[in-house]
Amino acid sequence: MKPEPKVKCPTCRKEGDWFAGRNGPFCSQRCKLIDLGKWFNQENAISEPLRPEHLEKYADLPSGEHLDRADTDDKNQAT
Ligand SMILES: [Zn+2]
Repeated sequence: MKPEPKVKCPTCRKEGDWFAGRNGPFCSQRCKLIDLGKWFNQENAISEPLRPEHLEKYADLPSGEHLDRADTDDKNQAT
């Protein structure tokens, strides 16, 4: 039989044949849960979807093009 390829645990970067284990590709259940927790946290961070109302408050701001120009002018003055 071919030996299992070594992989790095995505959580702690420890190398081993983790795919062979029941927590693969994680080295342990602990690392697996830590990674799952990360995903859940990310989902919480973007839990509020962007809606048109959110953009309305930016409608009165100058366009991005204008802001870019102002930024360039600042750099030219600095040099
Ligand atoms: Zn690990």
